Amino acid sequence: MTLPLSHPALSATDPELAALVGAEEQLQADTLRLIPSENYVSQAVLEASGTVLQNKYSEGYAGRRYYEGQQNIDQVERLATARAKALFGVDHANVQPYSGSPANLAVYLAFAEPGDTVMGMALPMGGHLTHGWGVSVTGKWFRGVQYGVRQDTGLIDFDEVRDLALKERPKLIFCGGTALPRTIDFAAFAEIARESGAVLVADVAHIAGLIAGGAHPSPVPHADVISTTTHKTLRGPRGAMLMSREEHAKAIDKAVFPGLQGGPHNQTTAAIAVALHEAAQPSFRDYAHAVVANAKALAEALLARGFDLVSGGTDNHLILMDLTPKDVPGKVAAKALDRAGIVVNYNTVPYDPRKPFDPSGVRIGTPSLTSRGLGTEHMAAVADWIDRGVTAARTGDEDALAGIRAEVADLMASFPAPGLPTD
Ligand SMILES: *Cc1c(COP(=O)(O)O)cnc(C)c1O
Repeated sequence: MTLPLSHPALSATDPELAALVGAEEQLQADTLRLIPSENYVSQAVLEASGTVLQNKYSEGYAGRRYYEGQQNIDQVERLATARAKALFGVDHANVQPYSGSPANLAVYLAFAEPGDTVMGMALPMGGHLTHGWGVSVTGKWFRGVQYGVRQDTGLIDFDEVRDLALKERPKLIFCGGTALPRTIDFAAFAEIARESGAVLVADVAHIAGLIAGGAHPSPVPHADVISTTTHKTLRGPRGAMLMSREEHAKAIDKAVFPGLQGGPHNQTTAAIAVALHEAAQPSFRDYAHAVVANAKALAEALLARGFDLVSGGTDNHLILMDLTPKDVPGKVAAKALDRAGIVVNYNTVPYDPRKPFDPSGVRIGTPSLTSRGLGTEHMAAVADWIDRGVTAARTGDEDALAGIRAEVADLMASFPAPGLPTD
C-alpha cells in the first residue's frame, strides 16, 4: 500500500530530503519491525517534537533559568517532570538528558570520581556500553568490573554479583541492560548495593514502558537512581530521564546541567510530557501487557520451531535467539530477514564464541508490532516467517525472502502504524 505524500513545506523547500522521509515512512509501514528498542510514537508525540519550542534556549531549570522568556517553557518542563514523578512514583525527575548515554554519564558525574570502580553487566552478556564497558568513556575514565549470566541458565547469578561487589566495592552498581529477556530482581540488587556501600542505578531504558504499564516490577523503592530512555517501550521521543529520591535530586540536577549539558531540547521535553500522559492512560496498561503476551506467544512459537532462546524464553518484550543450532550466523540471518521485510538486529549471546561484529544471535522484540495492533493470534505467522527467513538465509534462497516480504507487507497493510501518513 503506497502512503500519501506528507510534509508539504519540507517537500517544497527540500524535495531531496522529503523523499528520504517519505521512503522511511513507507519502509516503516511495510515492514515487520522487531528491534526491541524501537517503537512507533503517536501522532501527538510527533507533533509535540516538531514545534517551535525547539527555538528556545532555557539553560537551567524551571524558575531558575539563565535566559528570559521562559513563561511557557517553564510550564512545559514542570508538566513533564510532574507527570514523570506521578507515573513512576518517585520524588524527583530530571527530563533534560539528551539521550540514555548522556543520562548515564550524568550519574557517574554525580556519584563518582574518575578512576573509581563501577560495576555493571558485561556488554556481551546483555549489558549496555555505558555500564563501564571498555570501549565506552565509562570504561576508560572509570574502572569497570563486570558481571554476567550463568552459562547453564542464561540468568544472573546473584552470588557472583555479591562476591564481585564485596571484593571490588564499586561506587556504582548498574542493573538493567539491552538484551535481557527476564525480569530484573531490583530487590536483590538493592541488597547487594547496601552490603557493599554502592549506589544502585536501575537502567530501565528497555522496560520503562512495561514498568509504567504494570507489566514489569518497578525499581521503586529499591534503586537509588533510575535512568531511562523515553523512546523505547515508553513510546516517547528520543530522550531520557533520571529519577531518584529527594536526597539525590541536587546531585543529579547539577550533573545534568551545568555538569554535562547546555540548553535542554524543549521540543523533546514537550513530547516526553505527551508520552507520559499517554502512558498514564488505562489503554497503555493494556499495551504493556499485550507487548509481554505477544513476546511470550512468539517465544513459544519459535521454541516449537526448534529455535534456541537464551534463558529458554522471555518475561518481557525481548527474545534473544542463539542461531548456532540453525547453522546460520546472526548477521547473515539478520541481513536476510531484512530483505524479507523483517527488521531485527544481530546480537551476541552469552559466552558467544563468535565476534561482536559477527555474533551467533539475533535479538527481537514486540513493542512495535504491538503498537500496530498485532496480537497473540498473529505470533505463529511471525514465527513462521522468521523460521522460513532463517532457512532461506542458510540456503541463499532470495525468492523465498522476496515471497516473505510480500506476505509481511500484505499483513502490515491491515495494521496502520501510528504517526504515519494516511489518506
Ligand atoms: C538504549 C539504552 C541506553 C542508551 O540510550 P541512547 O539513547 O541510545 O544513548 C542506555 N542503557 C540501556 C540499558 C539501553 O537499553
